[in-house]
Amino acid sequence: MRYEAPTRVSDAVKLLAGKAGMARVLAGGTDLLVQMRTDRVAPDLVVDVKRIPGLRTITAKNGAFRIGAAVCGAELGEHKALRKAWPGVVEAANLIGSSQIQGRATLAGNLCNASPAADSVPAMVAAGASAVVAGPRGKRTVPIEAIGIGPGKTSLKKGELVEAILLPKRPPRSGDAYLRFIPRSEMDIAVVGVGVSLTLDSKGVCTAARVGLGAVAERVLLVPEAAKALIGSRVDDAALERLAAATSAAGRPIDDKRGTKEFRIKVAGVLARRAARIAWQRAGGK
Ligand SMILES: Cc1cc2nc3c(=O)[nH]c(=O)nc-3n(C[C@H](O)[C@H](O)[C@H](O)COP(=O)(O)OP(=O)(O)OC[C@H]3O[C@@H](n4cnc5c(N)ncnc54)[C@H](O)[C@@H]3O)c2cc1C
Repeated sequence: MRYEAPTRVSDAVKLLAGKAGMARVLAGGTDLLVQMRTDRVAPDLVVDVKRIPGLRTITAKNGAFRIGAAVCGAELGEHKALRKAWPGVVEAANLIGSSQIQGRATLAGNLCNASPAADSVPAMVAAGASAVVAGPRGKRTVPIEAIGIGPGKTSLKKGELVEAILLPKRPPRSGDAYLRFIPRSEMDIAVVGVGVSLTLDSKGVCTAARVGLGAVAERVLLVPEAAKALIGSRVDDAALERLAAATSAAGRPIDDKRGTKEFRIKVAGVLARRAARIAWQRAGGK
């Protein structure tokens, strides 16, 4: 196995595009190294992106944020402006693992590992985030929900890597939240995870919403029907009931040792309702 640690995105792309066989990007390594140690993957080339300066920073411009692909969870949690603008995204990222994991794990790694149960992904989907993808043919910006296409599979082409995550400028009176259900109190994989982001007008009526749903399908889902249940409402009990029903209906989960289909479908609705209520409070709803 060859290990490379380039200092420019263009060099990383060249390395990834040029190598025959399996090439993998190394960010925090909290998924990749575990998979390598347990012989689930055996890359011929590992490209460590942590030495690329632009990938290690969070930049705020006109209310929007660019989060470099090698920024770890702890750095997200320490960024006051980011936490204030997108508390749901930051709380989802900060749920990942333990303090040790937080010092390494990245949003881009969580996304590109393509687990349907990845915690930060439903929150980023709800936030309307996108990924800047760099590759041999230049750069493109891709909605987060279009990156993961199945367990362990992404839509990234050979030679491509995620350079940054973009979070849009947040309109006034907006809030987001992420909740997951796990059988233990921490350090576990989501049985269901729901992210909700919404915006209210000056009268408290919801004018925009997005709902991201994790661990109930082969990939994280954007659920427009659930968002529709909120838009035009005052996020009252009736709207929350419709939201819960639409979220539950969107899931197509499997049975496994963590939960049955029926349980996951039920919990998806419950978490959507609770996350929407938190997002509503954060948006200043009364
Ligand atoms: C003890 C423990 C607890 C955990 N708890 C949680 C949890 O609660 N919730 C959760 O969601 N996950 C959890 N994880 C999984 C893991 O920590 C997260 O998925 C993390 O966000 C991965 O980020 P990373 O930077 O370490 O990725 P890496 O391991 O570096 O990479 C993961 C995958 O993505 C690819 N990749 C990484 N960066 C890029 C990029 N920029 N462009 C293209 N491809 C890229 C890699 O090639 C690899 O295939 C846990 C892991 C451990 C070991």
